[in-house]
Amino acid sequence: MNRSEIVVSREEQDRQRAFAEMVKALPHRPGSYHVVTYGCQMNAHDSEKIAGMLEEMGMVPSERREDADFVIFNTCCVRENAERRALGNVTWLKEVRKQKPDMVIAVCGCMIQEPGMAELILKKYKFVNLAFGTANLHKLPEMLYETLNSGRQTVNVEDRDVIAEDLPIRRLRNDAAYLTIMYGCDNFCSYCIVPYVRGRERSRDPETIIREAEKLADAGVKEIMLLGQNVNSYGKGLPGNPNFARLLKELDGIGIPRIRFMTSHPKDLSDDLIDVMAAGRHILPQFHLPVQSGNNEILKKMKRHYTREQYLDRVARLRTAVPDIGLSTDIIVSFPGETEEQFQDTMSLLNEVRFDSAFTFIYSPRTGTKAAEMEGLIPEEVSTDRIKRLIALQEELQQDTLKRFIGTEEEILVEGLSRRSKQAVSGKGRHAVSVTVEGNENDIGQILKCRITGLKNNTLTGERI
Ligand code: SAM
Ligand code: SF4
Repeated sequence: MNRSEIVVSREEQDRQRAFAEMVKALPHRPGSYHVVTYGCQMNAHDSEKIAGMLEEMGMVPSERREDADFVIFNTCCVRENAERRALGNVTWLKEVRKQKPDMVIAVCGCMIQEPGMAELILKKYKFVNLAFGTANLHKLPEMLYETLNSGRQTVNVEDRDVIAEDLPIRRLRNDAAYLTIMYGCDNFCSYCIVPYVRGRERSRDPETIIREAEKLADAGVKEIMLLGQNVNSYGKGLPGNPNFARLLKELDGIGIPRIRFMTSHPKDLSDDLIDVMAAGRHILPQFHLPVQSGNNEILKKMKRHYTREQYLDRVARLRTAVPDIGLSTDIIVSFPGETEEQFQDTMSLLNEVRFDSAFTFIYSPRTGTKAAEMEGLIPEEVSTDRIKRLIALQEELQQDTLKRFIGTEEEILVEGLSRRSKQAVSGKGRHAVSVTVEGNENDIGQILKCRITGLKNNTLTGERI
């Protein structure tokens, strides 16, 4: 596909803006909205775009979903439980609507993009007014107009891989912002449904990304999080062969105080990128590097294209270049056929690397993926036991690794009041570890300097300097 087929045209953008105006002018349109988000940062950012479009259509946010005139569920299907939770909550809203018959219900995102899901919505979830996949997001004004005007259920799923620029965005925070640099994924890890529901990898133009970052800097944003399923392969198919290391270096030059990014695939983590991080002024000393398993045979079956040794080499290289770097990871236990010995390799990798945090998952078969056809599904009780042991080990190690911050100085970007005390605020330090420090509402959105004095349940405590 060439670029003009991927990037949504200006004419189409204008068409959608015209539909937004038409929805706004409808006498019976919803006055308020509520977005329910499942899944990753990508989805959270899509929800910000949904909110932006809905506000352009004249709607105002509603705190509680049961009070809103328009409720939209932005779903995830990476694991089965996320899907079950979403469908359960959609069904619950059907009951709520009995008291509020004009409520409009929509379901969108990755789950709708799954084969068979659109048919299921049409057949079993007739009360859902509108359902659409990830590729249709930018057409929300048109789809909503059709739904409201016709009174019929609208279900739209396309398989096109698009990049939709210039959508209105209602950001959740003023001090920190997501910035997507690429969409989709070409890796086809054998367990993962993302390439099927989010489409093939496509990168945004570097100039557009830089312009967006400059605008965020002008608006006073203090931290940006660059998003992509595999940011390290950024630039494929773009003229001039841009790459992630170069893009990051340019973004570092803009002057936004803090830059983070995720996710990095170990196979594509280049020395150039590590050098840019080491030399960067605003790139935070933190790296999320999903390993998934510590066993080479399982990594091969997962189609991750690296070995345990290669992963450890990348970790060593990162630690040499950025000595106090904070590392985090994703791990899947009970991949089909995983033996206790192979699971022990993952446990030993945790011991060897000592991550600051780890997101741990039990393997969940996803229809259409290669792994779903593999034999050797691990019984639930074995999986539960494995994940319990893995979490216990990580917590024990984390208590130890995080102690290294005690006595050091940290800068935290305050996210909100602490849940435990009204006289304290909490936020993330430069290494992405949560820190609680004395403070009040006025500190929210500010960067505070503090000295780390203690550690309580994986949260650091500090004193302001
Ligand atoms: N692109 C990122 C990467 O390569 O690491 C992450 C994408 S995925 C949304 C986030 C995490 O979900 C993965 O790193 C993996 O650990 C987990 N995951 C993906 N598919 C899964 C499955 N079928 N069962 C359990 N966990 C899964
Ligand atoms: Fe899924 Fe692998 Fe792509 Fe990550 S890199 S989104 S785990 S296929």
